[in-house]
Amino acid sequence: MKGNFPIDKFQEVETPFYYYDTALLRQTLQTINEEAGKHEGFVVHYAIKANANPKVLRIISQAGLGADCVSGGEIRRCLDNGFSPKKIVYAGVGKADWEINLGLDKNIFCFNVESVAELEVINELAEKKGKVARVCFRINPDVGAHTNAKITTGLAENKFGIAMRDMLPTIEEAAKMKNIEFIGLHFHIGSQILDMGDFEALCNRINEIQDELEKKHIKVENINVGGGLGIDYQHPNRVPVPDFKDYFDTYARHLKLRPGQKLHFELGRSVVGQMGSLITRCLYVKQGTAKQFVIVDAGMTDLIRPALYQAYHKIENITSDEKPATYDVVGPICESSDVFAKAVDLNTTHRGDLIALRSAGAYGEIMASQYNCRKLPVGYITEDLVEE
Ligand SMILES: *Cc1c(COP(=O)(O)O)cnc(C)c1O
Repeated sequence: MKGNFPIDKFQEVETPFYYYDTALLRQTLQTINEEAGKHEGFVVHYAIKANANPKVLRIISQAGLGADCVSGGEIRRCLDNGFSPKKIVYAGVGKADWEINLGLDKNIFCFNVESVAELEVINELAEKKGKVARVCFRINPDVGAHTNAKITTGLAENKFGIAMRDMLPTIEEAAKMKNIEFIGLHFHIGSQILDMGDFEALCNRINEIQDELEKKHIKVENINVGGGLGIDYQHPNRVPVPDFKDYFDTYARHLKLRPGQKLHFELGRSVVGQMGSLITRCLYVKQGTAKQFVIVDAGMTDLIRPALYQAYHKIENITSDEKPATYDVVGPICESSDVFAKAVDLNTTHRGDLIALRSAGAYGEIMASQYNCRKLPVGYITEDLVEE
């Protein structure tokens, strides 16, 4: 073992692969349940788009979380891995008819609807089945988040949700539809948010909206505030479990829930981010003119976040104890953006060493592609490699 890694077992499997530390996942889930459980009416869903590995999903569904899906494929994956349809919420700007039909057939808890056009289609499809679809409206609260521009979603300029000025007419429209039941409002302002002030701003906006709706005697049973809590990519060892206490307390303190109202959360990255590492092998150490490159067998096809978002992942050589040296760590893909990090210090690295890219449990394996005709990386959980 080095850190929490079963290195001997790692030597027996083909690289690159994802390793999921299930002790950390269970600890994270326990913290979520404890902290959310302190507040009346809080309901936590897991945003399955962050990591849909079936073994990971089984552990999360067993912990009692609901699921937040953004496609029909995700709904199927959840149902196959222990999530009850009663706890599935389904969001997305572009739901195809077959996906809506699947949600109706399975009687999922609710559709998070993003436009009137979509609402009309859901009403029509529900009518054909003689069913009533429960819907929440995803409102674009025009609240910015201090995060990467590619992952902010709650600004007026983003494609997501219904604009605030269209909210009332949309709710009134829904009331006229026989096969639609309006059950709440949905929000999601972005991802990798570490400033609780951003969530506070969302709470304030929701309070304003609730006051306005109350004046019109519109009853809202459910408020869904989406996900977005970030993780500490710099310090995966020091902060393995995000500060869920601060997160849930922020909502408890600032959001004025009405009696009997449920507050739903959809957490993705913060549930699974820190438990995952991409394990790769050094193929070559190449001496460039000005720098040294560690060329590894994983590439942007296995973990696209650095290339797509300039995201930082802590990188460690987990099989060398030699003194540190400075390297660019790059993959084998035919793209200049296939770089994991520039000028990072690693223990002196040689061909064959194992390298860990940390905090890769979210938006890692699930975003892998086969570009360059590469194999998809396998995801192993602790129990796959280590006997109890
Ligand atoms: C992506 C997404 C989430 C999860 O976001 P995280 O930042 O991973 O917590 C939750 N809700 C919706 C609607 C999303 O699109």
